[in-house]
Amino acid sequence: MLEIVNLKKTYKTKQGVQTNALNGISLKFPETGLIFLLGKSGSGKSTLLNVIGGLDTPTSGEVIIKGRSSKDFTQSDFDSYRNTFIGFIFQEYNILNEFSVENNIALALELQGKDKDEEKINELLKQVDLEGFGKRKPNTLSGGQKQRIAIARALIKNPEIIMADEPTGALDSYTGKQVFDTLKKLSKDKLVIVVSHDREFALTYADRIIELKDGKVIEDISKTYEEQEKVNENLSTVGDGVLIVKDGSLLKEDDFNYIKNFLKHNKNAIICSEEDDIKTIKKVTKINDEGSKEVFEDTKETLMKQYSKQDSKFIKSKLPFKHAFKIGISGLKNKPFRLFMTICLCTFAFAMFGLLSTMMLYDGNEVFKESMMSSDYSYIQASKQYTVTEKHYEGGVLSSSYDTSYLAKMNENEFNELKAAFGNDTFGSVSYITEIENISKRNSYSYYNANILAVGYIDESNSLYNSMIGNYPKNKNEIAISKYLAESIKEFGLNKPDKDQKYTLNNIEDLIDKTVVLSGKKYKITGIIDTGNLPSKFDSLKESKEMDLKLQYELEEELSQGLYSLIFTTKNNLNNFKSYDTMWKAFDGVGYASVAFKDYNASFSYGKYSSNKNEFDITYLGSDKKLDDGEIIISSSLLYSIINNKVNDTYLIDSWHTGLVPMHEKFNQYLYENTSDKYKDDVIKFINNNNMNNIEITLYDIYNNSSIENYKQKYKIIGFYRTDNMDTGLLTDNDYDKINKEAIKHYNETGQYYTLYETDYKAGENLLYDRVYLSYDKSLEKSESLVPYLNEKQLDDNTTISLNNSLVNKILEVNYMANSFKKVFLYVGIAMAFFAALLLSNFISTSISHKTKEIGILRAVGARGSDVFKIFLSESFMITLICVILSIIGGNVICTIFNNSVSEMLGMKIFVFGIVSIIILVVIALVTTIISTFIPVYKAAHKKPVDSIRSL
Ligand code: ADP
Ligand code: MG
Repeated sequence: MLEIVNLKKTYKTKQGVQTNALNGISLKFPETGLIFLLGKSGSGKSTLLNVIGGLDTPTSGEVIIKGRSSKDFTQSDFDSYRNTFIGFIFQEYNILNEFSVENNIALALELQGKDKDEEKINELLKQVDLEGFGKRKPNTLSGGQKQRIAIARALIKNPEIIMADEPTGALDSYTGKQVFDTLKKLSKDKLVIVVSHDREFALTYADRIIELKDGKVIEDISKTYEEQEKVNENLSTVGDGVLIVKDGSLLKEDDFNYIKNFLKHNKNAIICSEEDDIKTIKKVTKINDEGSKEVFEDTKETLMKQYSKQDSKFIKSKLPFKHAFKIGISGLKNKPFRLFMTICLCTFAFAMFGLLSTMMLYDGNEVFKESMMSSDYSYIQASKQYTVTEKHYEGGVLSSSYDTSYLAKMNENEFNELKAAFGNDTFGSVSYITEIENISKRNSYSYYNANILAVGYIDESNSLYNSMIGNYPKNKNEIAISKYLAESIKEFGLNKPDKDQKYTLNNIEDLIDKTVVLSGKKYKITGIIDTGNLPSKFDSLKESKEMDLKLQYELEEELSQGLYSLIFTTKNNLNNFKSYDTMWKAFDGVGYASVAFKDYNASFSYGKYSSNKNEFDITYLGSDKKLDDGEIIISSSLLYSIINNKVNDTYLIDSWHTGLVPMHEKFNQYLYENTSDKYKDDVIKFINNNNMNNIEITLYDIYNNSSIENYKQKYKIIGFYRTDNMDTGLLTDNDYDKINKEAIKHYNETGQYYTLYETDYKAGENLLYDRVYLSYDKSLEKSESLVPYLNEKQLDDNTTISLNNSLVNKILEVNYMANSFKKVFLYVGIAMAFFAALLLSNFISTSISHKTKEIGILRAVGARGSDVFKIFLSESFMITLICVILSIIGGNVICTIFNNSVSEMLGMKIFVFGIVSIIILVVIALVTTIISTFIPVYKAAHKKPVDSIRSL
C-alpha cells in the first residue's frame, strides 16, 4: 500500500547549520501489521513518520500511496491524503480542549464530510475502554484516557494506516501496555506504524522493526515463525534451543540421548511440555499456541499489492461551519482589551462609511424639491447678479483676488423667459424701500408693518389682479397696495397729508382714494390687492404683551420673501419709484478714491460710461446726450460734495430770511434726498452758470494725501445720476484707460496697495426689474423648474439668476454641510478603516498564534488550509458582526441627531440611514474583514502541519 523511495529531509537552521534528518530511506510497507520505527533520539524517526504521514514534505524522494506519488501532490492533496488514509496518534494526545470527547472524535469523521455517528463513537469508546466518556471535556481526563481518545479519533474514520509517534511516551508502563495492546489488535487489518525508542515493546509487539540511525535504516527485521520440527513421536524442536516434549509420553533411550545431545549443544536450551501451566514459559520463549516460535529475521522483499486509480481517491476535508465557528469564537476571549479596542475602532470606521453613504445618497435637488413642495410659498423671489473680480495689488504684485456678486437689473427678455417658465402670475418689481410717512402711530415690534419693500407691476392676466378691491393705478400719482399693508395702515391709523387730521377707517376698503406719502411724494390708493395672509403662527404677535423676538424675526423674514410689503403701479411708472441706486455699482476699473477734482477736495472712483450707462438714470445738463472724450458724468453725491465745496454762503441764491429754500438745500433735496423734481431746473441752471462744466481732475494718491501731478486733465461735467452713497464718475473708454494706466503706474512705482475691480458685465438695454416674483404652485413641475436656479443659474460668464428665499438658503447651507461632511467622512472613514483593518489583522494574528497548535491538530486529523480560513474568518466575522450591529445603531443615532438639527431648519428629515447605507456599511465591513483576516491567516494556513503542531 505504502512505499517510500530514497527519502531525504534536510533541515537548515536560521544560522545555516544543516541537519540531514533523513538520509535516503527507501522502504515498502505491507497492507497490515504493526511496524515499529526504532532508534535513539534524534535519529530521524519522527521526521520519517511525519513525512510518510504528509505532515511534512521531504527534501527529495517520494512517498507512494496506492500507486500515487507524492511528487504530484499539492498542499491540498497532502491534506486530503491524511484525511483519507491516515489516523494520527501523538505523544501529547493533541485533542481539542474546546470540544467534548465525542465531538473530538466526531470531528475526524465530519472532516470527511460524514455526519457525526453517535453509535460508532460509543462503540469506539467501548473499544478503548472509555464507555460513557462521550460528554466529558478533555481537561477532566487523565493522560492515558486522552491518548485512548486520540486513538478513538484516529479510528473513527476507519483509516487504512495508523501512525503513532511515541504514543506511550507520556504514559506509565501499565497504560502504555494497554495502548500497545490496542494498536496490536488494530494491526490485524490495518497498517500501524509506531515510533518508539523502547526495544522491549518493539520486540514484544512489532511485526517488523525498522531501526534508524542518523537518518538511515540500520536494521530492518521482520517477525517470522520457526515451525515446530518433529524429531520423533515424543520430541520436537522449535528453532535452536527449544525442545518440546509431548505431554504424557513415555521417553525411550533414544529420546534421552537426543535430549542430552541437545543440552550439550544449546547452552540456553529450554525444554518444555505443551501443557497449559507452562504457558508462561512459552510466552517467555515466544512460542505461540501453534507451537511455533517467533524470531526476527531480516525483512524480505515486501509484496506490494497493485492498486487502481479508484482505490487511491482522496476525500477532501470539509470542516463543518459550526465547528469552525466554535473554534473561531473561542479565540475572542484571549485578549479582551485588544478585542474591545478593535471593536471600537472598527465600529467607528464602519459607522463613518454608513454615514458617508447617507451623505452620498443625499441629493440636494431632491431635498430642495420636496421641501419646496411642502412649504407655504406661493411666490419665490429671483434676482440677477453679476460677478466682479476684485484684485488686490501690493507693490504692483497681485496679492489676492476674489469674486463678488452684485445685484443687477433684469431686462425684458430675461423677465419674459422667467414668466414663460413659471406662468402668467409671475411679475417683476423695483426695489423701493421706504415707509408710509403719514401713518398715525408706529409700532416697530408688531404683527403689522407699514414699511414698503418694492413696487410691482401686474397686468390683467395675473390672478392677483382679480383679487383686487378698487382699481389698478393708471397714472404717476396712483398706487395699489397689498392687503397686508392696508391692514397695517388701518391698524396704525392714517393722517391726512399736510393736516393734523386722521382719516376715518372702519375697514380696509375705506383706504381707497386715500392719500399716502412715500418719500415725500403723495400717492392716491386706487386698489387693494390680496397678496395673501400671513401664516397663522404669527397671530400671537397681534396681541402679545411680551416680545417674542424669534417670532418677530421670522415675521420679518416672511415679509421680506412674500408679497406682503408690496405696492403696485403701472409699468411705465415703475422707474419713477427708483429713488436711489441703492445698489453698489462696481465699475470696470480701479477702485476707491484714486482720482480727485483739484480744489474740490473730493476723490472718487471711476468707471466706463459704455458699461454702466444703462444702470443709471442719467440727467444730462445740456441737449447733448452722449459722452465724449474730455467729458464726465458724475454721481449726485459727488456733485453734491463739489457744490458744497464751491457753494458757500455768498453763493446763496435765496436767503433763508425770505422764506425761500436756500440753494444748497435745493441741491440737497434734489440730488441727495431726491424728494422731488421741483428743483431740477434750478440745479441745472446753477451748475451751468457756475462754471462747473470745466473742472480739472488730477490723480490723487490716497496714501500720501496728495495729487499726482502727472495726470491733470480738464473735464466737462455733462450730466449726473442719482445714487445715494457713492462718489463715482463715468468716463469714455479712452479716458478711463488713460487715467487707469497712470494710476496703476503710480502705485506700482510707489509700491502701494491698490485694488482693481474687473468685470466684463455690461448692463444691457431695457433694464426693468430688480426682483422678479416667480409664481409657484408647489407642483413637481414648477419645483423642477426652480432647480436650475438653486445654485445660481448662469446666464453668461458674468451674470447669474438666483433665488432669494430663506428655505433655499437653508438648503444651500445643508448642501454645503453635506458636501463638506462627505469629504470629512470619506477621509476619516478611509483612515479609520485602515487602522481598523490593521487592528483587526493584528488581533487575528494574535489569535492565530494562540491557535497554532489547534490548527496543527486539525491539519493532522485531515483539515485543509481552507478549513483554517473558515475558523479565523468566523472569528473575524463575529467581530465584524458586533461592529456592524454597533455601527448601524451608532450611524442611526448620529443621523437622527443630524436630522433633528437640520429638521429644525428645513422641517424635514434629510439623511436617511436606510437599507442602502446598511448595505454599503456591510460591504465595507466585509471587505475590511476579509482583507485583514486573509493576510495573517494565509500564512498560517500554508504552514506545514508539522510546524503548526510543533509550535508549543
Ligand atoms: P527523533 O524523532 O528520532 O528523535 P527527529 O526526527 O525529531 O528525531 O529529528 C531528526 C533530526 O532532525 C534531529 O537531529 C533533529 O535535531 C533534527 N530536526 C528535527 N526537526 C527539525 C527542525 N524543524 N529544524 C531543524 N532540525 C530538526
Ligand atoms: Mg521524535
